[in-house]
Amino acid sequence: MGIFGFFSKKENKEKLDQGLEKTKTSIFSKISKAIIGKSKIDEDVLDELEEVLISSDVGVDSTIKIIDRIRQRVAKEKYSNTSELDFLLRDEISRMIEENRQHSDEDFNVPEKSLDGKKIPYVIMVVGVNGVGKTTTIGKLANQFKQKGYSVMLGAADTFRAAAVEQLRIWSDRVGVPIVEKGMNVSPAAVAFDAVKEAKEQNVDVVIVDTAGRLQTKVNLMAELSNIKRAMTKPLEGAPHEVLLVLDASTGQNAIQQAKAFTEATDVTSLALTKLDGTAKGGVVIGICDQFKIPVKYIGVGEGIDHLQIFNPREFVDSLFKKS
Ligand code: GDP
Ligand code: MG
Repeated sequence: MGIFGFFSKKENKEKLDQGLEKTKTSIFSKISKAIIGKSKIDEDVLDELEEVLISSDVGVDSTIKIIDRIRQRVAKEKYSNTSELDFLLRDEISRMIEENRQHSDEDFNVPEKSLDGKKIPYVIMVVGVNGVGKTTTIGKLANQFKQKGYSVMLGAADTFRAAAVEQLRIWSDRVGVPIVEKGMNVSPAAVAFDAVKEAKEQNVDVVIVDTAGRLQTKVNLMAELSNIKRAMTKPLEGAPHEVLLVLDASTGQNAIQQAKAFTEATDVTSLALTKLDGTAKGGVVIGICDQFKIPVKYIGVGEGIDHLQIFNPREFVDSLFKKS
């Protein structure tokens, strides 16, 4: 069933609907304008639709893909009335996301127990540039794992700003999970090493390690991330089990650029897209789902502790096209 129980399903849908409100309003008001006075889907309408999608941060490549498919369907099938445009668009976006099978609507596969009965901590390293919502996402995730009955430990390896360590400590207090920290200006690799070592010694189920998101050259980024990763393998071979890249959806195309930079610098295994609430740029999720062969696992739909959801492509598209 995943992290969320049955009873909170409805509530989560409402949060998702609320979160996507701005994106939805923006896309559909643009589409309505584009088809005013037109009854047939013709090349002009498709050109306008292309502009709508690009200006909604779906991304050029994914937009072209969607438009081409709609053009083919309009030619082949009898869908030529502009009143069917919403349906066609929804259908093609769903197909495109589903074709990239990575998006599986499951949370992290944290093992219940290892074979010899001793727990091996499941290590999640969280990366991404400053301000995207890493620490907040870690707090929300820690809370979800705790609710699910797992023991959790946090590692404060963003050591470049004092505020960063402090902020993670606040989350650790709030959620009620221990934190491994050594203050600022120490090597992030040393903190990561300690966090994994402690978690192993204390039989902790899940360790979530915060890192600094410095925008720097690709070579430096690569070196820094691999240093931290290497430090984790010393106490625990195979760690980290997940490298979660956090992207701020409200930055639109910047999020795609960051995804490119980080996936080139390290093996990112999953994505979290934050701040879908309060932005009209939620279309970026569609582009990211299409262009990266990495699962979007989580979406952030608010600042609150309960505002992190497992990404479910079908629900996402449903919500985006739901008529209110
Ligand atoms: P970090 O620098 O990557 O660790 O980012 P932070 O976790 O400090 O988050 C930066 C800001 O974004 C904070 O004010 C968070 O409350 C806010 N934030 C994070 N996730 C979300 C989200 O899903 N929705 C909204 N509205 N704000 C968010
Ligand atoms: Mg932070």
